[in-house]
Amino acid sequence: MGGQGWQAVKPGGHIGGARCDRGYSGRCRQHRHQPHNRLPPVGDHDILTRLSSPDELRQPILCIQDIDLHLAIIARDLARLQPRPRRLVMSDPVDSTRQPAQHAPMQLQFTHHGAVNGVTGSCHRLTLPDGQAVLIDCGLFQGAETSPDGARADRLEIDFAIDTVRALVVTHVHIDHVGRIPYLLAAGFKGPIYCSQASAQLLPLVLQDALEVGFTRNATLINKFLALLRERIVPLPYKQWQTVIAGQPGLRVRLSPAGHILGSAYVELEAGTGSTRQRVVFSGDLGAPYTPLLPAPRAPMQADVVVMESTYGDRVHDSRKTRRARLQALCERAFGNGGTVLIPAFSIGRTQELLYELEEIIHRHAQRPAAPGARWGQIPIVVDSPLAADFTAGYAQLKAHWDAEARRKLAAGRHPLAFDQLQTVASHGDHQRMVDQLARSGRPAIVIAASGMCSGGRIVNYLKAMLGDARHDVLFCGYQAAGTPGRAIQQHGPRGGWVELDGQRIDIRAKVHTLSGYSAHADQKDLLNFIGRMRTPPRQVRLVHGDDGAKQALATLLRQQHAGLDVVIA
Ligand SMILES: [Zn+2]
Repeated sequence: MGGQGWQAVKPGGHIGGARCDRGYSGRCRQHRHQPHNRLPPVGDHDILTRLSSPDELRQPILCIQDIDLHLAIIARDLARLQPRPRRLVMSDPVDSTRQPAQHAPMQLQFTHHGAVNGVTGSCHRLTLPDGQAVLIDCGLFQGAETSPDGARADRLEIDFAIDTVRALVVTHVHIDHVGRIPYLLAAGFKGPIYCSQASAQLLPLVLQDALEVGFTRNATLINKFLALLRERIVPLPYKQWQTVIAGQPGLRVRLSPAGHILGSAYVELEAGTGSTRQRVVFSGDLGAPYTPLLPAPRAPMQADVVVMESTYGDRVHDSRKTRRARLQALCERAFGNGGTVLIPAFSIGRTQELLYELEEIIHRHAQRPAAPGARWGQIPIVVDSPLAADFTAGYAQLKAHWDAEARRKLAAGRHPLAFDQLQTVASHGDHQRMVDQLARSGRPAIVIAASGMCSGGRIVNYLKAMLGDARHDVLFCGYQAAGTPGRAIQQHGPRGGWVELDGQRIDIRAKVHTLSGYSAHADQKDLLNFIGRMRTPPRQVRLVHGDDGAKQALATLLRQQHAGLDVVIA
């Protein structure tokens, strides 16, 4: 799963609004307005300040002029960061099934700090018997989802002790897997951040965008943060072991392509050697086979424990050919009464997949009528998201990672991510003009904008301007988490309901569609294959990253298919 940017729902937070989006007391120099006279939300840009030198802590370098208050905020934040009693989940001791154990089996501990009941805020911890630990992902919560210890979309500070965490491993750069990294650094994390080579290039872009949207436009602070981040990132080639914790039992890590978005990986962690050796796989987000641009993931050879996502544990996606035909048919039907097709989409991954598919439709059907008086070859495809535009360029540069089909198209002179009808909108002024023009004219166009769950970003302005007009259509092709505006539109829109956006009630007259099969996530069959195709099946599967129904459905099938497999719903 993924999304873009911190959300506009943060207390006091209004992206680019007239009031101080930091909530600081004291007259705001940056935003030139009167104070709110209240403490800012924990984990606001005082955290960025704490990343800077101690001298800067004494300087009113951001909005705040009241130094005492500033220090009080820092003291309060630090107090909140005191270690809490750990909620450890003990895994059953796992014996090696390959050789009889000569020693007492090693006990590994799993703690799930996020993406347990839900799909956002991914953060899992593996702890060795000597207490040393690694984190897998450190992501943002969205919508109504929370951590077991109470972190949520508007309270993102790290709510667990990190003194024994030696390293962070990032599976992929979606914000719900990496968005709390600034908070992790602010909480004092000093270890390396391991990720794939492509993720190492993309991660600074993602976090820069998130900081600019949600924290500050102060370039000095952002650059300091990015410099610190780059120092910590250790890019790993796929399929190579790397020691993360030296000594005994020690820990090694290896990344393999997960087929979800560019650079995505599943993580194998191996502790100990010989008969006490144990291997754990964290799936991260697994892609579906035939995801455009990306090679399909291959199951690992073996593992003792697999911690697996289950987003679509209860669903099977349409085939790729079917979904492209449905996308085309749906757009043609939507254009029948004029109007725009709005597609909320994550900037990273989904946007590029949609472009790839639209290019295919245009390539095959350029002369076919798409709307009254317009052929497919004339319909503008608008990507209205600076981050998506950056990422589309990034995807284009990382062609070496594309799959064979995409490379064949390139060789044939096609440009799947940079075709003629594609328009990108960069500045905020151009964005506003595009919204006004499309809302008024009802001219056929396809707009792809973030965030994917409509909880922030430019799609919100389109929805506010166009949801009330029956000429327009909204097309969901990604998962909508509970509590997000996207879920509300998806649920209530088809019945003529309403949604609240930026505190405004908007009646939904636009038609709302959900197109399955465009998920960048493995479906039920793919998840079962991830386990079923391992040469040596695991002893235990721990299901995370899914709603209850999805986890239960998947657990039932896994138990049916693998006698003796211990399936744990985390
Ligand atoms: Zn993801």
